[in-house]
Amino acid sequence: MRTPGARLLIVGPPGAGKGTQASRLAAAYGIPAISTGDIFRENVRGETELGLQVKSFMDSGSYVPDDLTNDLVADRLSWTDADGGFLLDGYPRTPAQAAKLDEMLSRNDHDLDAVIELVADTDETVARLLKRATLEGRSDDTEDVIRHRLELYARQTAPLLDLYEDRGLLTQVDGLGDIDVVTGRILGALAQRGLKAA
Ligand code: ADP
Repeated sequence: MRTPGARLLIVGPPGAGKGTQASRLAAAYGIPAISTGDIFRENVRGETELGLQVKSFMDSGSYVPDDLTNDLVADRLSWTDADGGFLLDGYPRTPAQAAKLDEMLSRNDHDLDAVIELVADTDETVARLLKRATLEGRSDDTEDVIRHRLELYARQTAPLLDLYEDRGLLTQVDGLGDIDVVTGRILGALAQRGLKAA
């Protein structure tokens, strides 16, 4: 049975504030926020087999191989809490991942409802990440690694947005400004597409 909810992606460069907005949006729509970065980090912290496999990729700011990432997402989307919808944060990031996501959804006769692009300029995102480095001590928040992550985003992930724009799914939202204001902008943009929060 189709329960209320929404199938959403949030995409944006490192430091755009995806994680912060994702948890707020997920609460508003009553859907789980699924962050591949968070799940990988938990596995690294817990020294699981997956964690050991992905640690070096994450520390260097490189993408984790598609197969590992796709398997992780396929498993997570099969949990019952994602039956009525989900918000994916940080996935897909490559063309192969986007194709795999399409396959996972169509297998269940599902479609995406919207793709939110959180737009933020590079100077601001780098400043945010460097500040976060001093607060949280994330191992990939050093200047060289940040630069590599931004470059990978521009080269591999940003081009995926064209695909979603062609499908009429893309909603661009300015990610700069107060956290509540940005959340309000996203909720407003989604409501305009007929996706009203609970
Ligand atoms: P950010 O968006 O700030 O770079 P994330 O927490 O989303 O942070 O991701 C952190 C790291 O986790 C990435 O640099 C990468 O190593 C890994 N990762 C997360 N999602 C993916 C993905 N979809 N494909 C490959 N690697 C990923």
